[in-house]
Amino acid sequence: YSLSDSNIKVMRKLGEGSVGTVHKIEYLPKRKIMARKLMAVYPDATNHRQIMRELKLLKQCQSPFIVKYYGAYFSADDDGQSIAICMEYCEGGSLESVYKRVAKLNAHIGEGVLAKVALAVLNGLVHLHSYRVIHRDVKPSNILVTGRGEIKLCDFGVSGELVDSIAQTFVGTSYYMAPERIQGDRYAVQSDIWSLGLTLIEVSQNQFPFPPPGHPQLSVIELLEYIIHMPVPEMDASKFSKDCCDFVRRCLFKDPKDRPTPTQLLDHPFIVKAASKKLDLKSWIERVWGVPPKKQ
Ligand code: ADP
Ligand code: MG
Repeated sequence: YSLSDSNIKVMRKLGEGSVGTVHKIEYLPKRKIMARKLMAVYPDATNHRQIMRELKLLKQCQSPFIVKYYGAYFSADDDGQSIAICMEYCEGGSLESVYKRVAKLNAHIGEGVLAKVALAVLNGLVHLHSYRVIHRDVKPSNILVTGRGEIKLCDFGVSGELVDSIAQTFVGTSYYMAPERIQGDRYAVQSDIWSLGLTLIEVSQNQFPFPPPGHPQLSVIELLEYIIHMPVPEMDASKFSKDCCDFVRRCLFKDPKDRPTPTQLLDHPFIVKAASKKLDLKSWIERVWGVPPKKQ
């Protein structure tokens, strides 16, 4: 693809995060639907070349558990410079939008789907790790569902140069950060596992688990302190199996040395069972959104 502002059509806004805006677009020469994430970056041509070089790694990182990467380009307008990253459009939405929809329908995501989510995230993390990439931002909005019901990871940190040139303050403060990250230690694969544990609890109870329900509101700093010092949340043992609760409990070991790696967790009974179970996630995601998403 030779992507640029001149050969795409912006269709609609899909969402907005702390560092960017995502649109559904059409790449006109091939009539291909994509998602494009625009991020404001500092204007510096040397940086930009380095970012492009680092993003090339994304092309090699293809896997059924990673959102497809089509390419990137720089774009300039009156507001400054942005990098546009073009990727596979996932019509099932993010796990965040999915659980919020399910909550509106007065329902919960069940253990079968939860296990498939865990399996896909672990497979994605193992794949990234084989390229020496740590995700760094596992959370429900970075786990996407395709129209075919595939579950895939997006928005992982392949480009250190890109992270450094994002024109925003407070990038990287996230409530999904593991205790060792909050305390400024080095990132390891285990830090992504903590974020997976929190994600599974959030998705299962339609609510982020910190602070626990009934606890008074906390400021950002207080909440980060809370995560370091207070007991970790757990899956509801009255609703989920022993294997499921045990899996999440291991993800949330506070000491990263005790926390298992993605490869180790692939052998956990919760995951082994999920891998052998047939589950029609295409029908599931179609039910979630009411009508089958239209092909355009
Ligand atoms: P965040 O992940 O913090 O929500 P982002 O800017 O990464 O912020 O994404 C904003 C929203 O856009 C996401 O929450 C998601 O709903 C949507 N989105 C992102 N990428 C895609 C994609 N490839 N396909 C469909 N929707 C997407
Ligand atoms: Mg995101």
